Amino acid sequence: MIVGVPSEIKTDEYRVGMLPVGVAELTAAGHRVLVQAGAGLGSGLPDHDYLRAGAELVASAEDVYSQAELVVKVKEPQPSEYGLIRSGQIVFTYFHFAASDSLTEAMLESGAMCLAYETLRDASGHLPLLTPMSEVAGRMSIQEGAKFLEKPQMGRGILLGGVPGVAPAHITILGGGIVGANAAKIAAGFQADVAILDVNLDRLRYLDDVMPANVNTLYSDRHNILEQLERADLVIGSVLIPGARAPKLVQAEDLRIMKPGAVVIDVAVDQGGCIETSRPTTHSEPTYIIDEVVHYCVANMPGAVGRTSTFALCNATMRWISKVAALGLSGVLNETGPLQSAINIHEGKILHDAVSSAYQK
Ligand code: NAD
Repeated sequence: MIVGVPSEIKTDEYRVGMLPVGVAELTAAGHRVLVQAGAGLGSGLPDHDYLRAGAELVASAEDVYSQAELVVKVKEPQPSEYGLIRSGQIVFTYFHFAASDSLTEAMLESGAMCLAYETLRDASGHLPLLTPMSEVAGRMSIQEGAKFLEKPQMGRGILLGGVPGVAPAHITILGGGIVGANAAKIAAGFQADVAILDVNLDRLRYLDDVMPANVNTLYSDRHNILEQLERADLVIGSVLIPGARAPKLVQAEDLRIMKPGAVVIDVAVDQGGCIETSRPTTHSEPTYIIDEVVHYCVANMPGAVGRTSTFALCNATMRWISKVAALGLSGVLNETGPLQSAINIHEGKILHDAVSSAYQK
């Protein structure tokens, strides 16, 4: 099979879909790998590393898409790539269809098979290709929150950990999954006062067992959310219903009960966001303010720490990429294991329930 790795073109995206070691693995298995020249540079991976691993360097995205039977990417195709994707081709990447009807329509029109990292569920029920980026985004959310709480960044002028004699910041984390747990771990290390809210009681029990004493758990209901919003200096939005649009846990009018200069980091913005006033932003212009609350809604947070993220992503994706390359398009369609859960769109049809209901709403 011919596998193609184009450069990522989303604003401020520095990741790449494959490491040189992945190229070596695929070529050893008899596949050809086309890598767009410069694709790895944002992650500190020069072209000669890919060449040494057996890749064929090509000059443009057109060269990749026109030849590759399997395109391996990081972010969802951008409008300039829509026309390059064709029927009979597999595109394996993050799509987050629930957040974009226009992307859904373009991929339906392309006829391609869209395999989404974010919905691939393994035998134990986990989302192994979402996990590494959620780990990065969760840890990064506290780093970014700390920065935007600074007064020159329009925040409240609060130091997360306080100092002796001055209380630490209160951080509210909505959703205690991978993003939420990683955020809590870093926030706890900063000595902030942390609350994690979730609707999954077993998850809350687990977090209560493993988290340090400055992290408390709360059931995620409207009463507790409102009480937390009044107290919070920093709110992390990290809920997920896989494939579906995120539930809006914070309504527009709720912002009025928050402290002026409080910061909201809506990590779930890639699924539409769990704060009603969230809209996607970029690393170049990450924040905007509504009702004196700073909103940070970067949809590709891990892109800013491209090197860490590329290695973390490829550690998880490579075995699935090898599997898809070995099976080919018809093999993937007939496979009865976890890859089925990654098929979002094929030959102009939506084949994933949550993606389908998000599109019809
Ligand atoms: P996860 O499945 O591990 O965790 C989600 C948690 O949300 C679960 O524990 C679930 O029980 C909880 N939840 C569901 N409904 C809830 C509710 N009403 N109230 C409180 N909790 C609720 O998911 P994750 O890996 O942590 O990802 C979270 C989100 O972050 C996803 O949308 C993911 O795509 C996104 N993400 C964004 C970026 C970015 O760059 N912006 C990067 C990585 C992940």
